[in-house]
Amino acid sequence: MRYRREEVKSSDNEDYEAYVPVRERKKQKIKRILKTAQDDESGSLSGQEREGGPREQDVQELARKNNISLLDQHTELKKIAEARKESELEKQRREEKRLLEAVAEKRALMAVSELARGVQYEEPVVTAWTPPKRILAMDNKRHDRVRKKYNILVEGQEVPPPLKNFADMKFPPCIVKALQKKGIEKPSPIQMQGIPAALQGRDMIGIAFTGSGKSMVFILPIVMFSLEQEKKLPFMNNEGPYGLIIVPSRELAKQIKDNIDYMCKFTEADGFPELRTCLAIGGEPVATALQVIKNGVHIMVCTPGRLIDMLDKKMVRLDVCRYLVMDEADRMIDMGFEEDVRTIYSYFKAQRQTLLFSATMPKKIQNFARSALVKPVTVNVGRAGAASMCVIQEVEYVKQEAKVTHILTCLNKTTPPVLIFAEKKQDVDLIQEYLLLKGVTAAAIHGGKDQEERSAAVQAFQKGDKDVLVATDVASKGLDFPGIQHVINYDMPDDIENYVHRIGRTGRSGKLGVATTFVNKANDESVLLDLKHLLIEAKQKVPPFLMLLGGIGEDLLASLEEEGGDERGCSYCGGLGHRITACPRLEAMQNKQAAGIGRKDYLAANAADY
Ligand code: AMP
Repeated sequence: MRYRREEVKSSDNEDYEAYVPVRERKKQKIKRILKTAQDDESGSLSGQEREGGPREQDVQELARKNNISLLDQHTELKKIAEARKESELEKQRREEKRLLEAVAEKRALMAVSELARGVQYEEPVVTAWTPPKRILAMDNKRHDRVRKKYNILVEGQEVPPPLKNFADMKFPPCIVKALQKKGIEKPSPIQMQGIPAALQGRDMIGIAFTGSGKSMVFILPIVMFSLEQEKKLPFMNNEGPYGLIIVPSRELAKQIKDNIDYMCKFTEADGFPELRTCLAIGGEPVATALQVIKNGVHIMVCTPGRLIDMLDKKMVRLDVCRYLVMDEADRMIDMGFEEDVRTIYSYFKAQRQTLLFSATMPKKIQNFARSALVKPVTVNVGRAGAASMCVIQEVEYVKQEAKVTHILTCLNKTTPPVLIFAEKKQDVDLIQEYLLLKGVTAAAIHGGKDQEERSAAVQAFQKGDKDVLVATDVASKGLDFPGIQHVINYDMPDDIENYVHRIGRTGRSGKLGVATTFVNKANDESVLLDLKHLLIEAKQKVPPFLMLLGGIGEDLLASLEEEGGDERGCSYCGGLGHRITACPRLEAMQNKQAAGIGRKDYLAANAADY
């Protein structure tokens, strides 16, 4: 009997519905609509909201407005969902702003004497250089066209025009010849915009991918300025330096000094006065640097530790220093050299032109750097932190125990020279030993080796005596080994910035390179997510195991970036796979600060400088 009655009811829906109170039915309908609206937006609502479904008060509210049409109700509910999504994004933005403010450097980067006297420089340094009249006569539209063509992004007031050849930059023919002998015929994009800005005396933040030719942007102007000074009034005993270049690693300092010496060879041969450059880095005898300083030094290239030591002991002064370069500036400031940089600043006696360079420049560092600069020009070629597009990036899943032997297979991918990176010194030694056993000529460098061994290894590799160089991150920053065919990452670095630096050792000067990275279960999911997004950005193949990574966090990430026009990725470390609120590097930094743990190996190189 009961069964029959139910059958009748189900075949006659309208009768059946009559038993449900109108209020209840309306509520159900509204719930259904609200769910549709939510499904439309499911990518951007938080998991909690999705689970909870429509909020009771929204439904109640609409139920009361029962005199409006269903379509209107739908629109209204969509609006409510929109507003709630907005507030979720707003919350995330507020939290990001708070975090960024908490980590941003509050104190200005200035000399102590300047701070004490309240000296604030308002105008950039004035130089005698101007762009050619012909270019000055052109309108801004031409300059913007050139910048657009070469992907040069600029920020700042009265940015000088980009120049497309070295002759327009008014370099003497001997410099142009020196460049040509190195195979440099035309300025690279960072040089087109960066060199005019530097020659004009402007403070600058230069952001360019590795291998883009950024060293020449600061080397050529300082050579010209030093020649001008020397011609006006020759440098006397113990005078100088006029230009100071600070870098985070000894190898990079050496490389920059070699480039300066190379240029000076050509200018001297052409009748220009002799320029003296000294190298002040740990592991080298101070006496060698002192010898140059004694005769009057024009340019000094140094690592922070050794420079501070020499300043402290009054072996050198910065009284006449008017040109300051910090290459790989983010590394120096970010990894704990900021106090050293601050100390160095306290030795300046007058306004100087400051140039900061790096391949990666997270917002936190940019804010910090700006406090040290006067009306700076920011020149950005490619996204800060982006990997060079000239590198084919391959990511392979390799079990921990199979990694060493898999290197041999990978070596078959290209011809030498090959660079292999590993995080730990022990792994570097292990890989080198294995390769030597297998008959591969391999050199190795890491912070545990003394300066002599390190220099010998780098030289042997540079000369082509060794096919492979195995290294910790000591070798990943700014070093220019010509023609590297292949970079193998024996392990994925903890942060994506390091990955960008590492793979940037290949694919330089417009040539194509290969980078192979081993990943496995031991890797942190967060850095793998960053890697995934970097591969997508660089239009590389994403392996299936990386494709599968992702989650609720990714939805929020997408909404923030697509809808709000927010900056992509993390504003602290630049990683694309997460926001600052979930930055593993920020967390690690905070933990380290709390525990007072030392620096990683690539800075161990400099720890010895103190
Ligand atoms: P850098 O990014 O300064 O470390 O330079 C990387 C390499 O690019 C060096 O070997 C330079 O000699 C080379 N290079 C610099 N500028 C140019 C250019 N305009 N054209 C071609 N190669 C360049």
